[in-house]
Amino acid sequence: MKASQSFLATLKEAPSDAEVVSHKLMVRAGLIRKLSAGIYNYLPLGLKSIRKVENIIREEMNRAGAIELLMPMIQPAELWQETGRWEKMGPELLRIKDRHDRDFLIQPTSEEVVTDLARNEIKSYKQLPVNFYQIQTKFRDERRPRFGIMRGREFSMKDAYSFDRDAEGLKRSYQMMFDAYTRIFNRLGLKFRAVTADNGAIGGSGSQEFHVIADTGEDAIVYCPSSDYAANLEAAESLSLIAVRAAASQAMAKAPTPDQTNCADVAQFLKLPLEQTVKSLLLAADQADGSVKLFMVLVRGDHELNEIKASKIPGMAESRFASESEIKQACSAPAGYLGPVGVSAEVTVVADRTVANMADFVCGANEAGHHFIGVNWGRDLPEPLVMDLRNAVAGDPSPDGKGVVDICRGIEVGHVFQLGTRYSEAMGCTYLDQQGKAQPMVMGCYGIGVTRLLGAAIEQGNDERGIVWPISMAPFEVVICPMGYDKSEAVKAAADQLHDELIAAGVDVVLDDRGERPGAMFADWELIGVPFRVVIGDRGLVDAQVEFKGRTDAESQNIPLSEIKATVI
Ligand code: ATP
Ligand code: MG
Ligand code: MG
Ligand code: MG
Repeated sequence: MKASQSFLATLKEAPSDAEVVSHKLMVRAGLIRKLSAGIYNYLPLGLKSIRKVENIIREEMNRAGAIELLMPMIQPAELWQETGRWEKMGPELLRIKDRHDRDFLIQPTSEEVVTDLARNEIKSYKQLPVNFYQIQTKFRDERRPRFGIMRGREFSMKDAYSFDRDAEGLKRSYQMMFDAYTRIFNRLGLKFRAVTADNGAIGGSGSQEFHVIADTGEDAIVYCPSSDYAANLEAAESLSLIAVRAAASQAMAKAPTPDQTNCADVAQFLKLPLEQTVKSLLLAADQADGSVKLFMVLVRGDHELNEIKASKIPGMAESRFASESEIKQACSAPAGYLGPVGVSAEVTVVADRTVANMADFVCGANEAGHHFIGVNWGRDLPEPLVMDLRNAVAGDPSPDGKGVVDICRGIEVGHVFQLGTRYSEAMGCTYLDQQGKAQPMVMGCYGIGVTRLLGAAIEQGNDERGIVWPISMAPFEVVICPMGYDKSEAVKAAADQLHDELIAAGVDVVLDDRGERPGAMFADWELIGVPFRVVIGDRGLVDAQVEFKGRTDAESQNIPLSEIKATVI
């Protein structure tokens, strides 16, 4: 391809809202452009990388026996009412109406639709197992879209759904997906780790996440360097509980007097960023035995996701989302003032799961009069999460007894999940077994964040000059930079010939025919992150030599033009 035909759109400056390096570089390299919060145009070069990721995913999904289809982005509310998710899901679900005033939604995921398809199309055990997948646009109205396309509102996901006859079958399908994911992330050239994502309630590893290791990741991973043990923070129960306990007792010991409204102190006592604090508190509340005094966090205002840990509230059967009035009732607090909550001697935590940018909290211990009002948790804390948790957790014995644990940060790029019969039972998705008896299909679901992967790869691969792509994801594999394309016949001829030769050999090559000065030309391609650069000039051509440089090489080297093909293949 010629550069003049590939719409280069590099920028000197990063947008002011870009917090992480991948977001900055994706905009500067001309891969994406923001349209609205969490909604992006994928420019031609960005789309090229997306397509490369999709192709690898598609190849490995097909290899694993999954079958591609495409489900609608706009889905009728009725299906989601069948499973209760229409009501249960908070404002992350984008609900819309058609001209007849009927309710629809834009898919955040597709369990309902695929289960509906399966119940209509699959009748017999002979048709099972089957695994359907799609690569399709998703929409989640994230409270805090950020990091460019890593936490977008509109994004692309590969989602697969397996249907099996029984639990044994599901285990096999799940393992096949797990193995396919491992191949995919290896082929993409990423440093990643698979972590247990639940506490094993379903039995064994019912759910695992794949995390790309990066300091800017939003999740914390507890792992044992000398064994296979790896879990996300929620799943690493005992460990994070230790951390929270340590932080909480420290906080309690230093808690200011009850009427003191000093949020900064509270936050500092806990030494955790807000989101993680709340997550950990929820977890700790789940497991509290009544002997530990913990902070509770109450959210006022915009908080559809408030969840009362119902197991801790007498008379409530299961955890669910609570309305503001229910929370107020539970707190028996006057309007505009929530807290303290003291449900028997136990700890209750009522919290929003994603509380960034929120203010005016009430928080405190589960003790009358021991609370703060008007707390603004949105404040940035000086110390990063990993360091704090590290102090509390690193060096603890690994649950598998094979060493000690450490902690790092990750970006969740994939998630495999054994659903069981939750959806098939809710929606009557059954098949006839060998005895002619109706049985619910046993399901699994498997997601990969296609667009998030680009950001994650850049978080792992970058330097002061720009992106350092794994070759599998780079928008181009090789760039040819001619010195005087429109001035020297010899240079033009050699560049064109090499370009055609590489194309014929299946190399994704771009020829810079823009006539830019060398400095500007090199800077562009380094920013874009093309793995190999070939510079062709009159002087080298005298000896049939060109300059060759890998993106991270310190120096270029002179090599014969005739060897370029073999070098880059
Ligand atoms: P997160 O914890 O980051 O919010 P999730 O657990 O809600 O992700 P899943 O429902 O497991 O996401 O969806 C499957 C995959 O889709 C995730 O592993 C992630 O890679 C990707 N994904 C989820 N939300 C987003 C988003 N807002 N922007 C981009 N990719 C996303
Ligand atoms: Mg999410
Ligand atoms: Mg997640
Ligand atoms: Mg997930």
